[in-house]
Amino acid sequence: MNDCIFCKIAKKEIRSDIIYEDKKTLAFLDNHPASLGHTLVISKAHAETLDKLDEKDLKSLILTVQKISKSVSEFSEGYNVIQNNKEVAGQLVHHAHFHIVPRNDGDGIRWNRPNPNFSEKETSKIIEKIKSNLNI
Ligand code: AMP
Ligand code: ZN
Repeated sequence: MNDCIFCKIAKKEIRSDIIYEDKKTLAFLDNHPASLGHTLVISKAHAETLDKLDEKDLKSLILTVQKISKSVSEFSEGYNVIQNNKEVAGQLVHHAHFHIVPRNDGDGIRWNRPNPNFSEKETSKIIEKIKSNLNI
C-alpha cells in the first residue's frame, strides 16, 4: 500500500520516535498520545485490519505488544491495550496496529477527548525509559 502512513513509517520514509524494532515488527510513539509513553505497535507487512494479518506476522506482533507492555508496566500502574478495526470502530489509520497506553491513578484519561500535550523533554525521557526496560 503506497500511500499508507504506517508503511512509510516502517520503511523510515516518515520519521517516528522508534521504541523497538525487529525483522517483522515496529513500535513507535503515537504522535498524539493519550498519555506519556503511548506506543503503537505494527507489523511491517501491510494488512488493513487484525483479521487480514498473516498468522506468522500476527504472532510476531503480539509478542512485541507484550514486550512493550512489560516495559511500560515497570513505570506505570497499569496500561490499556487497544486495537481498532474499521472506521466504525474508531480506526483512523488503515494499517493494523495496537495501542499501548500507560495508565496511572488520577490520570484523567477519557477516550474521545483531545489529548494532552507533552514537552519534547518529557517525550525523550519516556522513550529512554521504555527502551531501558525492554530486556527485562
Ligand atoms: P486508530 O484510531 O486506532 O487508527 O489510531 C491511529 C493512531 O495513529 C492515532 O492515535 C494517531 O495519533 C496515530 N498517528 C497517526 N499518524 C501518526 C504518525 N505519523 N506518527 C505517530 N502516530 C500517528
Ligand atoms: Zn500499511
